[in-house]
Amino acid sequence: MLSQVVELIENKQFFGITTHVRPDGDGIGSSLGLCWLLRSLGKTAEVIVSDGIPPSYTTLPGADEIRHTKEIDREYDAVFVIECSDIDRPEIVNLDKQFTVNIDHHSTCEHFGTINWIDSTASAVGEMIYNLCKAIGGRITKEIAECVYLALVADTGSFHYPNTTDRTLKVASELVKVGVKPAKISEAVYNNYTWGRIELMREVLNTVRRDYTGKVAFLRQTLAMKQFSGAVEGDNANFVNIPLSAKEIEAVCYMREVGCNSFRVSLRSKGEINVAKIAEKFGGGGHKNAAGLSIKGDWDELEREIVNCLTEAVEKVHSNEMELSFA
Ligand code: 5GP
Ligand code: MN
Repeated sequence: MLSQVVELIENKQFFGITTHVRPDGDGIGSSLGLCWLLRSLGKTAEVIVSDGIPPSYTTLPGADEIRHTKEIDREYDAVFVIECSDIDRPEIVNLDKQFTVNIDHHSTCEHFGTINWIDSTASAVGEMIYNLCKAIGGRITKEIAECVYLALVADTGSFHYPNTTDRTLKVASELVKVGVKPAKISEAVYNNYTWGRIELMREVLNTVRRDYTGKVAFLRQTLAMKQFSGAVEGDNANFVNIPLSAKEIEAVCYMREVGCNSFRVSLRSKGEINVAKIAEKFGGGGHKNAAGLSIKGDWDELEREIVNCLTEAVEKVHSNEMELSFA
C-alpha cells in the first residue's frame, strides 16, 4: 500500500523502474514520472524496459535515457514494476529475484510484489504517481507533470473513457498549472505517426466484419500487412477503437498476427459489457471496457470463439436490461 511505498523511498537510495513489454502511454509516462520524482528527492533512479518505445512517447523528458535491457544487471535497492499483471509481463530476467514494488490500477493484477500498491479506482497509474508525489511531500516539477499528464491522456483516451473521474480532471488541472501544455502532448501522441499507419489502417479496415447481432465488430491484421505498409511499432494505436465510433457497435475484437499461429488480441466494449472477464478466460486481462491477451492456435477458430463470447456478453447485458425494464 501507499504508506509502505513512501517508507521504502524514504529509506532506500537506488531504484530501478520497469513496465510491461510493448509499453503504452501509461506504462512509459508513469515510469518516467516516478523516475523524475525519485530524482527530485535526491535518489538515484533509472527506467529499464525490454522493448523499444513507440515514437509517440520519445518526446517525453527522460525518454532518451531509458535503458533497454532484457536482464537485471545492477544491484538495485528495489525495482518498481509499473502496470503489470504479473512478474513476467516486463520480460526481464531475474526481476523475480529483486525487492519489487508492484504499482497498478488493474483489478485483475496478481499481488506478485514484495510491496503491492493497487488502486483500481485510479484512471491511470499516472494518477497514482501524482498521489505518491503528494504523499511524500514532493514538488510536482514540469518533468513529472508532463510524464504523468501523458499517462492520463493515454489511459483515458484524452479524458473521454468512463474511467475519467473528477479526481482525474483535478490532477490534470494541477499538471497544467505547473506548465504542461495539453496541445503539445496531444500533438506528440496523436499527430506523430508514420504514413505507414495510414496504409496499414486501410488494409486492416478492409477486414472489418460484424456478428449476426450487428453489435460486435471484428478486424484483423496480418504480418504481411504490417510489413508492406511500412508501419512501425505503435502505428496501429487505437485501431481497435475505430469500429466503436459507430453507434451500433458495442464490442470489438482486433486480432493481429505476431508469429506462426500466434496472435495478440485487443478487446474493447461500451457500458456494462465486461471484456476483462473474456480476456481472462483466454489467459489475458485488463479493464471492464479495454482488455487484451496473447494466444496461439488456428486463426479462424480463435476468432470465432472470442467473437462468440463477445456476442454472448452483449446479449446478456441486453436481456438484463429488458428484465429490468419489465420489473
Ligand atoms: P491493449 O488492447 O491496448 O493491448 O490492452 C488493453 C488493456 O488490457 C490494457 O489495460 C492492458 O494492460 C491489458 N492487457 C493487454 N494485454 C494483456 C495481457 O496479455 N495480459 C493482461 N493481464 N492484460 C493485458
Ligand atoms: Mn494503465
